[in-house]
Amino acid sequence: MFPELDQELAALAAQALRRRLQVVETVLPGGRVRVAGQVLLNLSSNDYLGLAQDPRLIAGAQEAAARWGVGAGASRLVAGHLGLHEDVEKELAAFKDAEAAVLFSTGYMANLGVITALMSQGDVIFSDRLNHASIMDGIRLSGATLHRFPHRDMNQLEKILRQTPGGKRRLIITDSVFSVDGDLAPLWELVALKERYGAWLMIDEAHATGVLGPGGAGLAQALGLAAGVDIHMGTLSKALGSLGGYVAGERRLIDYLHNKARSFIYTTAMPPPVLGAIQAALRVVREEPDRRLRLLQEAEKFRRGLQDAGFDTLGSETQIVPVLVGKNEPALEFAAALRARGLMAVALRPPTVPPGRARVRFSLSAAHSPADLARALQIIVATGQEMGIVS
Ligand SMILES: *Cc1c(COP(=O)(O)O)cnc(C)c1O
Repeated sequence: MFPELDQELAALAAQALRRRLQVVETVLPGGRVRVAGQVLLNLSSNDYLGLAQDPRLIAGAQEAAARWGVGAGASRLVAGHLGLHEDVEKELAAFKDAEAAVLFSTGYMANLGVITALMSQGDVIFSDRLNHASIMDGIRLSGATLHRFPHRDMNQLEKILRQTPGGKRRLIITDSVFSVDGDLAPLWELVALKERYGAWLMIDEAHATGVLGPGGAGLAQALGLAAGVDIHMGTLSKALGSLGGYVAGERRLIDYLHNKARSFIYTTAMPPPVLGAIQAALRVVREEPDRRLRLLQEAEKFRRGLQDAGFDTLGSETQIVPVLVGKNEPALEFAAALRARGLMAVALRPPTVPPGRARVRFSLSAAHSPADLARALQIIVATGQEMGIVS
């Protein structure tokens, strides 16, 4: 069937860009996994607080299943809006200190839903070049005109804001923590620009939710800028350990999304076990700020260790720590060598990153012990030296 598919896959393989699924055979404590019979320290997970295996979340899922069943039975607007959805959305709104919040089945669907609901042909979207793929897909599907600005470049953003005529809807979108480099959006400047040019501001807190801010609500909370952001999007699939996306903001925004967001309307409501896990996760995030503080402290130590050894950790300021390698093949070889020594980390290659900027990315979790992270650091430095990535 379709021999051209083979040719395309072969072309990807020739550029060291061919991807394959790998089976995680067992999930082990301490942020470890078994893959192909080998136990690895998992430095590729988004389970930043180690909640995916937490007994309290598992119990939350079990209790919700026992009480409400495993499926919601319908879409939200039809008959699938359970009391449990209502409760979790109220808790999310309180967590985000917003008037209201709405759940989507995934973060991907949240981005698709909110962007296509608010924006259409004739409107203009300003998007950071390193924004997540789900934001890009939402923009494409919306039909709005897209202006991508260079990563975190506020001069360029201001220039294009000045050049695009007013009168239409204008929306600035940024990740708050960028998944590729673990760096932060310049939120002060973004809020100032959106006010100066009469645009809306939307931030995607997928990697910041549960991690940054005094209450774990994300970067906007950490900087005291929540009121300057119009659309707060985030996920429950990373630090919160299970699955789902949310949008929080003014009541009328959420009412509008109930009516217009197609990825909310035309899909089955989120299943009760996931909602039970989210409720338990929100409780842990509220009651155990130490988890996120320890994670960020360990990340700081880890990053400093890499920098002292001569690695370029790019702009990382969070639990996501990349090291720049350059070409695709050496990045793959570096990741493979680390794996042979018990560390699972991904090599990021184009089109995820610009050509010639391939890197290996480490994601830290509160599940990792300080001793394991210290050992991982030693292995990474020694391997980098042997491979000539650092001297
Ligand atoms: C992971 C991620 C998403 C998608 O969230 P899912 O819940 O996994 O669908 C959206 N935006 C960003 C920035 C992400 O990192």
